[in-house]
Amino acid sequence: MTRQPPEAAGSGGLVVRDLTVRYGRAITVLRQVDLEVPQGSVVALMGVNGAGKTTLARAVTGMLPFHSGTVVEGDISWHGQSLLGRKPGQIVRAGVSQTLEGRRIFAELTVDQNLGVGGISKRNDQTLKDRRDWVLELFPKLRERLEQRAGYLSGGEQQMLAVGRALMQSPQLLVLDEPSLGLAPIIVDQIRETILTIRDAGTSVLLIEQNAMMALAVSDHGYILSHGSVTRHAPSRELLDDPDIQSFYLGLDEAAGEHAPAGDGTPA
Ligand code: ATP
Repeated sequence: MTRQPPEAAGSGGLVVRDLTVRYGRAITVLRQVDLEVPQGSVVALMGVNGAGKTTLARAVTGMLPFHSGTVVEGDISWHGQSLLGRKPGQIVRAGVSQTLEGRRIFAELTVDQNLGVGGISKRNDQTLKDRRDWVLELFPKLRERLEQRAGYLSGGEQQMLAVGRALMQSPQLLVLDEPSLGLAPIIVDQIRETILTIRDAGTSVLLIEQNAMMALAVSDHGYILSHGSVTRHAPSRELLDDPDIQSFYLGLDEAAGEHAPAGDGTPA
């Protein structure tokens, strides 16, 4: 059973309709995916390895052509305007920023320089300064390490820097690809809190996560992607309370054991 997200379809924000994506000529990775991120919300996209989560992020942010991927059907609209065919820079200027899976920061540059690169598309110095102040308030650890080379930061700090750099663009929508990957639980908690702060400051978040517990705890609505198709979507609270989801994705019952998520990503 599926349900509409909190706000009605087409009310603004990001709307993905009937999206089919292929790599090269033959590998179809997404099949007729429908997904919405209403303005002001956090939406989680979950699924096991290879389900197609990153591919969806690439489609939204205009990165598919760099991976020989193409949209063969469907549309992605942002506040009613199609994003298809737009270049990544144009999509950033339209208000959509992302952090990439694997925390791609510039390791040779300092923390401050990395933030500066994030704000490069903003012309107004005062806006940039205010933004930088806000990012450093959000991540006090980065303020302590402003002059340090980013490559020497811990994994958690690099993730904060990646998020901070994306926030320098003052996005209306932030696409976060696996922010909790490989991080200690205490850092994951901090990231969760940060996502809520970002949302409260007016930026919607599309959160791509394998860590379903974290994703559902922080999001308003959740989508489950399996083999390139959305097999379920519902308010996150409902998914958290669902025994099938609990056993399959959250590893809370014995049948799923410690190794969940497993199988093909479709709850029984
Ligand atoms: P993970 O959680 O492991 O990052 P994911 O859900 O984000 O997985 P994708 O990275 O979108 O999944 O990959 C979906 C499928 O597409 C996988 O089978 C992957 O091997 C394939 N794929 C990804 N990029 C390419 C590419 N450039 N060319 C061909 N196949 C690709």
